[in-house]
Amino acid sequence: MVDIAENPPPEISVAIPVYNEAQNLGPLVARLMPALEQAARSFEIVFVDDGSSDATLDALRALNAADARVKAVSFSRNFGKEIAIAAALDHVRGAAVVLMDADLQHPPEIIPAFVAKWREGYKNVYGVRRDRAGDPALRSLFTHVFYGLFDRFGETSLPRGAGDFRLLDRQAVDALSRMRERARFSKGLFAWVGFKSIGVPFDVEERAAGRSKFSYGKLLRFALDGLMSFSSAPLKIWAYVGMGVSAFALAMAGYYFWRTIIYGVDVPGYASLIVSIAFFGGMQLFSLGVLGEYIALIFAEVKGRPLYLVAERLGVEER
Ligand code: UDP
Ligand code: MG
Repeated sequence: MVDIAENPPPEISVAIPVYNEAQNLGPLVARLMPALEQAARSFEIVFVDDGSSDATLDALRALNAADARVKAVSFSRNFGKEIAIAAALDHVRGAAVVLMDADLQHPPEIIPAFVAKWREGYKNVYGVRRDRAGDPALRSLFTHVFYGLFDRFGETSLPRGAGDFRLLDRQAVDALSRMRERARFSKGLFAWVGFKSIGVPFDVEERAAGRSKFSYGKLLRFALDGLMSFSSAPLKIWAYVGMGVSAFALAMAGYYFWRTIIYGVDVPGYASLIVSIAFFGGMQLFSLGVLGEYIALIFAEVKGRPLYLVAERLGVEER
C-alpha cells in the first residue's frame, strides 16, 4: 500500500477505455494535457486496455514511462467497452472523474467546461452531442428506435443525446462501483444513480484513426441488454397478450356454441385453423425466447464470475 500522505489522490481523473487505438493515444494525450493543466490542480489519466491486439499496450507503457500521471490497467482479453468503463471507475482515485472515448470523437477541450460545472456543485455533468450527423443513416435510425423503446418501457429516463462522455463526482463514482452487474448498460446506470445533473453541449468529431469497434450485431446485443436490464416490460407483456388471446378464444367458443345449436355442425374452417395454430405457435416460441433472454441474464449474474481480469497494471494499485 502506498501511503496516502505521500501519494494524495488527484483532483481530476480521466478514465478512458481503449481497444486497438494505438495510433490515437499520442494525439489524444497531447490534447488532453493542456486541457487538464488548465482545468485541474492535479490530475491522472487512467487507460483501460480492453485486451487490444495491436500496439496499444506498448504505447501505454511508453506514455506511462514518459509521464507517471498517465496510468493503465490492461485486461487479460477483450471484455467489451461497458466492462472496461467499470474497471476504469474502479481504478481512478480523483475527486471527480471524466469518462471519454479514445478516438478523439470526444474533444478534450470541453473538459474545463465540465470541471467548471462540477465546481458549481453538479455531480453528474454529461456531454450532449449537438447532432449525430457523422453517423451512418442506419445507425441513426437504430438509435432513434432504441430511444423510443427505452422512453416507453425503460425504468429510468435517459437524457437525449447524452452518452458516455461525462464528468462524475466521487460520490457518483462510488455509487457506480457498487453495481457489479454483468449486463452493463452504462448510460442507464449513470442516469439511474441520479445526483445533481446537467448537460453540456459539444460537437462530436470524426473518429481520428481506425474504425468504430461496434458492428450492427454488437449494437443490437448492446441495445437488448440495455432494454432488458432497465425494463421488465418484455417479460410482463405476455400476461396481457395471453389475457387478450384467451378472451378472444372464449368469445369464439361462445359464438361457435350458439352457431352449432342454431345451424348444426359444419366442417369447413381449415384455413382459419391452420393460421391460428401457426400464429399461436409462433407467439409461444417468441415468448419462450424472451424468457430465455432474461434467464440468460440471470444465469450470468448467478455464476458470480469477476467482471474482468487484469493482466498488467501501470501506475495504478490493485482494487
Ligand atoms: N472500446 C473498448 N472495448 C471494445 C470496443 C470499444 O474499450 O470492445 C473503446 C474504444 O477503444 C473507444 C470507445 O470504446 O475508446 C468507443 O468505441 P468506438 O469509437 O469504436 O465506438 P463508437 O464511437 O462507434 O460508438
Ligand atoms: Mg468512436
